[in-house]
Amino acid sequence: MGVYEDLGITPLINAAGFKTRLGGAALPADVIDAMSAAAGATVDIAVLQARASEIIARATGAEAGYVTCGAAAALTLAAAACITRLDVKKIDALPDTHGMPNEIIIYRAHRNSYDHALRAAGGKLIEVGLNDRGVGAGVRSLEAWEVEAAITDRTAAVAYVVTTPEDPPLSIVTEAAHRRAVPVIVDAAAQLPPRENLRRFIAQGADLVAFSGGKGLRGPQASGFLCGRKELVQSVALNHLDFDIDLKLTTPPLDLIPVDRLPGLPHHGIGRGFKVGKEEIIGFLVALKKFVEGADGADETKRFRRLAEGIARDVSRGHTGDLEIAGPPEAPEIHVDFQDAESAASAYRLLAQGNPPVIVSEELLTQGKLVIFVATVREDQAQPLAAAVGRALSARGSRAPGEEGDLRPVRKSTP
Ligand SMILES: *Cc1c(COP(=O)(O)O)cnc(C)c1O
Repeated sequence: MGVYEDLGITPLINAAGFKTRLGGAALPADVIDAMSAAAGATVDIAVLQARASEIIARATGAEAGYVTCGAAAALTLAAAACITRLDVKKIDALPDTHGMPNEIIIYRAHRNSYDHALRAAGGKLIEVGLNDRGVGAGVRSLEAWEVEAAITDRTAAVAYVVTTPEDPPLSIVTEAAHRRAVPVIVDAAAQLPPRENLRRFIAQGADLVAFSGGKGLRGPQASGFLCGRKELVQSVALNHLDFDIDLKLTTPPLDLIPVDRLPGLPHHGIGRGFKVGKEEIIGFLVALKKFVEGADGADETKRFRRLAEGIARDVSRGHTGDLEIAGPPEAPEIHVDFQDAESAASAYRLLAQGNPPVIVSEELLTQGKLVIFVATVREDQAQPLAAAVGRALSARGSRAPGEEGDLRPVRKSTP
């Protein structure tokens, strides 16, 4: 019996992608080993973060980096850093931003559920631009003049969310913001892989970039990181670390914590609730190293391909024409056609309530399709997954009474 079974909980087969609500993906064995080794000893977290900062800097081309407990926490810390900079009094005051520049400018079409994380630090979102493309009213995106025109002495930062394709190009926003000496925070949470993206947004002038560690990087679920300008990352550390005794008593001088430039250290900041365990920091660093070295980048793509083909082959026995392999090679998807939204919803429920439970993505439900994301499926889960989807296809049309209608079809989200 495993740790979950001991609690009477059956682990599920996650074929829906790196979803937080499903615990992300199972981790590679070397990341798990590193996390348990980390758990068996104790270290000074400030020293560990300072070393991580150098490693992230090297991987991203940024001046500094910082490990967080996810990209959402990274966004809150980034907003806090842009609002407070290295002002200890302001760090102590958050989320009360009275008398501080606290406005964060954001393209209206970039608004999303995760921008709550920016507001959590006391940031006030100022929407600019029009969602013309989203509603088909025109082809113009956010323009540089709109960003510049919104910047005032109340502006703390400009926020930018990476979409595929980038819209508008990030450099338009960074150039406009920098003309007015305002930093740009980039939400690139789900933009790894490809590996080039580690450096791409920094190279385009981003001042702080937030990434998830528990998505395509395949690090611990509760990890993420920031990279960016040194002074802002120092502020992130001041807003985050636990300083309940005089740092000079315990910790050697660190570039990450500029004690000599400060009148003293802040008390627990807005980020104290987002603490990052040594286990997450070490697991994340091992995952980052693997990702950067790409030892298995091409191998992993091949592995996903084999896995996708194997699952598709098994499902399609007796169901020819019902499915196709789609998505980019590094993140293949299998689209299973159930003809209409109701049948797809019914199959979704059947899978989710099966034994073991199988969770697929519902993002094409309105088109009558269920999507299997291969990247989060373990090899040993491929067969039970394929068998369950095969059964759902066979059961199509023979719905249990009262089953239909209570899973609302959702619209396919933009990436
Ligand atoms: C997933 C995601 C986040 C949050 O990332 P976590 O690492 O789960 O905190 C933030 N922004 C976007 C766009 C995301 O896709």
